[in-house]
Amino acid sequence: MKVYKFGGASVRSAEGVKNLKYIVEDERGGLFIIVSAMGKTTNALEVVVDHFMAGRRAEALAEWTAVEAYHATIIEGLFEGPGDSGAKGAKTPAGVQKLYDEARGILSTATPTENDFEKWYDALVSFGELISTSIISEYLNAVGVRNRWVDMRRAMVTDQKFKYANVDMEASTVKLREAVAGADVDVFVGQGFIGATPSGKTTTLGREGSDYSAAVVASILDADSVAIWKDVIGVLNADPKIFPESTFIPELTYLDAVELAFSGAQIIHPKTIKPLQNKNIPLYVRPFGDKMAPGSVIRGQIAAPIEVPILILKRGQVLLQIRPRDYSFVLEEKVGEIFPIFEQYNVKVNLVQTSAVNMSLSIDKTRRLDELTRALEGHGFFVTRDEGMELLTIRGYTEPYLERYSRVPGIYLAQRTRKILRLMRKEAGGQ
Ligand code: ASP
Ligand code: MG
Repeated sequence: MKVYKFGGASVRSAEGVKNLKYIVEDERGGLFIIVSAMGKTTNALEVVVDHFMAGRRAEALAEWTAVEAYHATIIEGLFEGPGDSGAKGAKTPAGVQKLYDEARGILSTATPTENDFEKWYDALVSFGELISTSIISEYLNAVGVRNRWVDMRRAMVTDQKFKYANVDMEASTVKLREAVAGADVDVFVGQGFIGATPSGKTTTLGREGSDYSAAVVASILDADSVAIWKDVIGVLNADPKIFPESTFIPELTYLDAVELAFSGAQIIHPKTIKPLQNKNIPLYVRPFGDKMAPGSVIRGQIAAPIEVPILILKRGQVLLQIRPRDYSFVLEEKVGEIFPIFEQYNVKVNLVQTSAVNMSLSIDKTRRLDELTRALEGHGFFVTRDEGMELLTIRGYTEPYLERYSRVPGIYLAQRTRKILRLMRKEAGGQ
């Protein structure tokens, strides 16, 4: 068994879905395909959720209609319409229509409360993956790639941490193996990013979580390998849109990949590596536009260590500076109090630096920033914050890099170990 994962950008159009078919059509010996929501659907659904939560039903439904219209263009590009009307008349597959009706039902009748934000978020945002996989599974069956659609809400069992759910590996092992058992096909199509609690409430695993889904599926099914198909030739040492002098890295260890992912490289979701490393399953990052190219491979042993410095820029950061009002030492007395608060507000902390009475943190921008700040103040801390920051990580930096980046203006915070240089500054965009 192999696992292939296709992201939203790859399946954003009918051509993309046809290319997916071209990639999977000659696979033999079992293939589990994990797919994200098409294009920018998840972002659009987040807007639906915002309207819905604020009681703006009409706006929520209008935005939802736009989501349906977007998928209609893809459906038209994939399926023949009846009679002479060609693709224009292509009918929405019944399974997809059912999902549309279900979502419309929620948007027109349910009355959400702010406390349940995360629950409603998951209930609605998960439609993106449900719709994309329904269309793709239907299409593949129509063009001769016989497959089974797997409802990951019945296969991926998670805890109750809505919007950032954790997978229960043991329970999921039982459920996922059941879901693939006795199939008369050897291709499966399932949703990335989503799961459900043991009582069946839909959950999501955190934005961009489809890579992680692929890793969990691979681990549970003891796959031979996982491939993440992306719009890149493989893993690069830097984002070419930001750093023009980027180069291709053919091989990485799991540890390299974890460090890369945690410091904000957009190649793979940080949680992806662990399940694969545990079972020593290699992870390929392959170019969606070139089925024949090998891409990069991430595995336990590699022939030679990476020689180029790796540059990662994480935008949308907030620099928080926290100081106890009573001037007690941050380190000794208060550190244990601070982190549970971040945990409570689901805030990702990307860097920490402490001094005697001060703690500086780089965190992802969150809609609950004000609440978080108040909570910290409630615990007796002074809080200052700078928004619109970016965090640059250079792993394996060399002298010229040190020279260049130590001198760039406007650095708010710098951290340096033997291998890693990290800088925080106002968003400038790389260079
Ligand atoms: N569709 C989800 C997102 O955009 C999950 C994913 O793409 O991995 O965050
Ligand atoms: Mg996506």
